[in-house]
Amino acid sequence: MQTSPLMISGILRHAEVAHPDREIISRLTDGSIWRYDYAAFAERVRRCANMLRTMGVGPGDRVTSLAWNTHHHMELFFAVPGIGAVLHTANPRLSDDQIVYTIAHAASRVFFYDPNLAPLVERLRPRLEEVRAFIPLDADDGKDAARSRAAAYEQLLAAASPQLDWPQFDENEAAFLCYTSGTTGNPKGVLYSHRSVVLHAITAGLSSALGFSAFDCIMPCQSLYHATAWGLPFVAAINGCKIALPADRFDGASLQQLIQDEGVTFSGGVPTIWTMYLDHLQRTGETTGSLRQIVIGGSAVPRAMAETFQNYGVQVRQIWGMTEMSPLGVLSTPTPKLAEAGSDICDDVIWTRQGRRQFGVELKIVDDKGLELPSDGQSPGSVMVRGPWIIERYYRSEASALDADGWFDTGDIATIDQYGFMRITDRSKDVIKSGGEWVSSIDVENVAVACSGVRFAAVVGVYHPKWEERPILIVETHDGATVTIEAMLAHLQPHMPRWWLPDAVIFENIPMTATGKIDKKTLRERHARCLAQEDTGA
Ligand code: ADP
Repeated sequence: MQTSPLMISGILRHAEVAHPDREIISRLTDGSIWRYDYAAFAERVRRCANMLRTMGVGPGDRVTSLAWNTHHHMELFFAVPGIGAVLHTANPRLSDDQIVYTIAHAASRVFFYDPNLAPLVERLRPRLEEVRAFIPLDADDGKDAARSRAAAYEQLLAAASPQLDWPQFDENEAAFLCYTSGTTGNPKGVLYSHRSVVLHAITAGLSSALGFSAFDCIMPCQSLYHATAWGLPFVAAINGCKIALPADRFDGASLQQLIQDEGVTFSGGVPTIWTMYLDHLQRTGETTGSLRQIVIGGSAVPRAMAETFQNYGVQVRQIWGMTEMSPLGVLSTPTPKLAEAGSDICDDVIWTRQGRRQFGVELKIVDDKGLELPSDGQSPGSVMVRGPWIIERYYRSEASALDADGWFDTGDIATIDQYGFMRITDRSKDVIKSGGEWVSSIDVENVAVACSGVRFAAVVGVYHPKWEERPILIVETHDGATVTIEAMLAHLQPHMPRWWLPDAVIFENIPMTATGKIDKKTLRERHARCLAQEDTGA
């Protein structure tokens, strides 16, 4: 058999010849809409690659993007790795110090950014001494170019040749450099290779996973800078899907407009975005239109959210993964065995479990001694993974991130049930141990968020003089809604053991991390001593 390397440029070439007239549309940060097809996209990607070469970017060099979900960013997704360079997708929602840290750690020399991030870039610029070129991803009106003291993207592109024979090289060469969001210390870099990106993209499109067809229009609402948005630009290009990119406008009204105008069938993202979208539908009385499926992940999906979408006729699937896994791990698509169990069980499993194994990711749960636990839905253990798009070691680290048998410890705690579906009960760093017993923060949150009037709910463990740690519940209500402590406890009580009930219920705005997840670290710190005076009962 032939041994042609798996190249990201191979995905581009396929898209250009197999479905050249399928559309890519993008909102820009000024609100306008850009529209072209895969053929025109491929031509601009070649120009972009030539432009990079003219600037002296070569194989192995790192290029940073600080950009939203736009066609410009997607062009960099193909052009930078296409010539053998590495795209470091910086996260604009990190702190200044963390952004500077990742760019210095990546040792990037060229930096592309969206125009509405110019104030942030101006602030960072004096600290980015190694960066040679700052290029705004703007239209060619020269305004942003003047400010950045450099030519802008569109000018450079227009001057570059559209002719290019994509180079072939070892498929194990690096393509992307993605950083974790650094919830526990400095962000850590993970290098994705051409091989891992292509294999991940092929598998992600399968019917057991995202299940895309050429009739789909995909609107990625997970950020392109966060683990390459589940590789959706590549999955879409392989499967001939139309793409609708929302830039940085993830509010309900903007998403609804794209869905209606472009016939979006599929979207995905973290739960917070879909909370905002459902708020919008409830306020306006609008419906979900062409939307057929939403895949939600990044943190646990509240059951109430899945049910509400079902009532609108939209299927919700849960996905689980992480930056270290490119990011796809498991996805909750139905199986015949589950269907035979009846629709109640089927819905319950699909909505409340993170998902089932996908080809390419070996997965097991183990106890404290590393022994594999049974798939009985009862025994929680550490989730270990292994496979061709799973990390081997962090970028610039001497040590392998794996155990002696090549397994990566994900830091998540889960059970696996008789249907083969995994249910995350906690992250190991969020685990609450009260009097030696585990309380599942995710289970309590899921019930709390289903209480009428509740927008977000977070459960964290704080110090308790008798029990070492006890859960407290922090609640953010919908605008204008009132929820009392008594009503919340009465709502929780029937669904959990008594000792899982939170010792305090606090109403306040819930902070989010740079990747749109509830910031439990801040909440833990903020309320660390709130139970310190509790009676020890001694
Ligand atoms: P980090 O937040 O550490 O930077 P990621 O953004 O890659 O890393 O997030 C990975 C983590 O998000 C997982 O380890 C897991 O704890 C959590 N996560 C992802 N998907 C889900 C899900 N569907 N349900 C619950 N937790 C999830």
